[in-house]
Amino acid sequence: MLRWIVLALMFYWLWKLWQRAGRIHQRRPKKPQAFQKPGEMIACTKCGVYVLKESAMRKGEHFFCSDTCRRES
Ligand SMILES: [Zn+2]
Repeated sequence: MLRWIVLALMFYWLWKLWQRAGRIHQRRPKKPQAFQKPGEMIACTKCGVYVLKESAMRKGEHFFCSDTCRRES
């Protein structure tokens, strides 16, 4: 019987600890995930819109936001 009381107390203690840990975690300011490392941004040579370098259209040394801008330049 005593074993169960000890076990229950341990569970209660762990629950309290877990709750406290959760509260500490919540209090921490949210990390600005979107701004952490979105990849290199590059301005379109034609219209100046910023696009991700890996998704930008490339023409020699210049980067463009779309195929339209690339063709019009
Ligand atoms: Zn553009």
